[in-house]
Amino acid sequence: MTSKTQPQAESPEVEKVEKTDAEWRETLSDDQYRVCRKHGTEPAFTGAYWNTKTSGTYLCACCGQALFSSDTKYDSGSGWPSFWQPLDAAAVGTQTDRSFMMTRTEVHCSRCGAHLGHVFPDGPQPTGDRYCINSVSLHLEPVPDLRADGETGGGKKAGEAKGS
Ligand code: FE
Repeated sequence: MTSKTQPQAESPEVEKVEKTDAEWRETLSDDQYRVCRKHGTEPAFTGAYWNTKTSGTYLCACCGQALFSSDTKYDSGSGWPSFWQPLDAAAVGTQTDRSFMMTRTEVHCSRCGAHLGHVFPDGPQPTGDRYCINSVSLHLEPVPDLRADGETGGGKKAGEAKGS
């Protein structure tokens, strides 16, 4: 078999994903393209994840790199998914953003450069950071529910209670 398994272990170097603007435009939704590639912002309280409490890992919507854990997600009241820490410091990069007559720290995916949001110094302990991230930049990979006690049958679920 030629299945290519990519070890999910933390590799020290982040392999960059580089695509042309046209390629991103083709693979992303309009909203994803506008936010991730053009530094847009989704309206508060509209994204898929601002109020999500599901356990799991938030991946980059553009390249799939693991960015944030639900363990560090908290309700900031901002209307955007907020985290007090990235999953791995190497997963995100930052740079100064002086647009809109403000000085903010922009956060992006270290692998593909996708714009994620901004980080502010008004978050909760232990870090005091607030990573304010656009839902559309993320894809939540939920943790499988392991609490099922010995039931046979592989996770039959009636009905899907998921929105889009
Ligand atoms: Fe990425």
